[in-house]
Amino acid sequence: MSIPILMYHQIAPVPPRSQPLWTLNVDPARFRLQMRWMQRLGYRGCSVRELLPYLRGEKTGKVFGITFDDGFANVLNNAMPVLCDLGFTATCYFVAQRLGGHNDWDAHYGVAPTPLMQPRELSAWAALGGEVGSHTLDHCHLSRLPPGEAQRQIAESKQRLEDVCGTAVESFCYPYGDATAGVQGMVRAAGYSNGTMTHRGRARASDDLFDLPRVAVAGFTGTAKFLYKCLSGVEDRRRGT
Ligand SMILES: [Zn+2]
Repeated sequence: MSIPILMYHQIAPVPPRSQPLWTLNVDPARFRLQMRWMQRLGYRGCSVRELLPYLRGEKTGKVFGITFDDGFANVLNNAMPVLCDLGFTATCYFVAQRLGGHNDWDAHYGVAPTPLMQPRELSAWAALGGEVGSHTLDHCHLSRLPPGEAQRQIAESKQRLEDVCGTAVESFCYPYGDATAGVQGMVRAAGYSNGTMTHRGRARASDDLFDLPRVAVAGFTGTAKFLYKCLSGVEDRRRGT
């Protein structure tokens, strides 16, 4: 069984195409349509935490994962109402030292600063059933850091987010999909149960839970393309024999 874990960033009106990284925005109406289609086809959207028994092969069913990277406030405002309506859950990965701040790590691309959830908004996300995952302290390239600092980014972000939401943080997302086997080992050792990447494909029960592929949904992805990406094997990684 292959399970698509969708990767979104912002759920907000798509900016002009001249704006760098504009494809990371998915219009709220389009997001609603995508979720409704999956529901109509009999699928239930789940956080990664909820997906784990399926990823471990302990459970089977028509499920898919929903993830949001970076912790944008527009995800709480525009995606959560849709998820609540449909009875879906999702994982949002927060940059622990940027709560209430902006996506300043993208500033060098010339991207307009967009607000990230405040601590009280993160709590609201969790109270509504959203999973809180970690995306490090500072949205850094983990493989480029000295091991001690990479370890701190991984472990301290978990602790800080747990202090805010009051529940265990067990899901991790590697910024830029930048992870070596060593980095993945650190995430495991820090007490997380899984890690998502940016490489494309649907997840399978045989996958390493710290190297989970995802299906990227961009602002220009139309409904037919969306369903094709989710339900066909088109995005699946090339695997060995
Ligand atoms: Zn990110």
